Amino acid sequence: MKTTYLDNNATTKVAPEVIKEMLPYFDEFYGNPSSIHSFGGYVGKKLSEARQEVASLIGAETDEVIFTSCGTESDNTAILSALAVNTTPGKQHIVTSSVEHLAIKGLCERLAGKGYRITFLDVDGDGNLDMDQYEKSLTDDTAVVSLMWANNETGVIFPVEQAARLAHERDIIFHTDAVQAVGKIPINMKNNTINMLSISGHKLHAPKGIGVLYVRRGTRFSSLMTGGHQERGLRSGTENTASIIGLGKACELAVENIEKENTYVRQLRDRLEYEIQKRIPGLRINGGKALRLPNTSNISFQFVEGESILLLMDQLNICASSGSACTSGSSDPSHVLRAMGIPYNLAAGSIRFSLSIYNTDEEMDFVIEKLPPIIERLRKISPSWKTSSMRANA
Ligand code: PLP
Repeated sequence: MKTTYLDNNATTKVAPEVIKEMLPYFDEFYGNPSSIHSFGGYVGKKLSEARQEVASLIGAETDEVIFTSCGTESDNTAILSALAVNTTPGKQHIVTSSVEHLAIKGLCERLAGKGYRITFLDVDGDGNLDMDQYEKSLTDDTAVVSLMWANNETGVIFPVEQAARLAHERDIIFHTDAVQAVGKIPINMKNNTINMLSISGHKLHAPKGIGVLYVRRGTRFSSLMTGGHQERGLRSGTENTASIIGLGKACELAVENIEKENTYVRQLRDRLEYEIQKRIPGLRINGGKALRLPNTSNISFQFVEGESILLLMDQLNICASSGSACTSGSSDPSHVLRAMGIPYNLAAGSIRFSLSIYNTDEEMDFVIEKLPPIIERLRKISPSWKTSSMRANA
């Protein structure tokens, strides 16, 4: 059975053009880019070209692009660097949001245990940031702000450029986790004051295990790794050459495809949502009223378990993800949906569909046909659905 892959916020297919670009760098051009000989030098030249492609996608300068191993490393490095370069004693406050990815949330919680004060900003029912609360949260003690550009679960976009301006006025370092935004919406670092930005290759049709940390010229920076002089000493460790070259190609393709993301992919997503809403009662589109990524749809179905929906969809080879994280046998609704104040009986039945340019109208038709009977079947065995008033109206 054909796979219907609608889990692109988890990871994406590596573009065939990217694979083709990478392959020679495993067996033919395997030199070390730091070597003096021209065999290695050739690879070094290709890395420079890849750096240029990454810079072009986000309107950066090439010396602002640092290759890392993943989005998580970029996120961790950004926060830890901002804290390390801070020379004012007592500046131990970090501002972030309550809906960040664990790469930021987990690190901040750990730092809280080491004496840092963390403000986790609230979001409203649509996932929007409370900008008044944000402004009030910035104090003389604030060392760094980290706010995601787009949320991985709902696709909701935060006004990070505006938030960075407010931080900049107070001389606070501003970082954004743009892992889900880069390649899906236009980003131009020439138009903002953001100090640092994280990218992950595998979210934009490059391989897993390659990331970027953008660091604006003039931003004080402290490296996480100590070792060789790679990345101008800012990130030691022999470069993942094939993956960097693949990421360069993926960024080149992203420049070409960003229009398609915002027209074709958006139209697929909107039709999927519209048709599901028409066919299934008792649901909520999470973040549906907010400014959102064009590819993401997070839907809560009342009185069913997200995991059960996923299992039944999996039998049809439909890949999506649930809004809940399964921990030790009990499934808790995700921290993102909880922060949005979504009632438990809705949040527990949440599914994220995340699309890419490789999806088709036929795939949407397949899901539109198969999902309603799945929800109906699960609701028939749901005790809370049996007693709900909605059953009579369905
Ligand atoms: N930040 C966000 C918003 C993400 O969605 C992810 C991955 O899901 C990450 C960070 C981590 O990226 P990586 O998997 O490259 O470590």
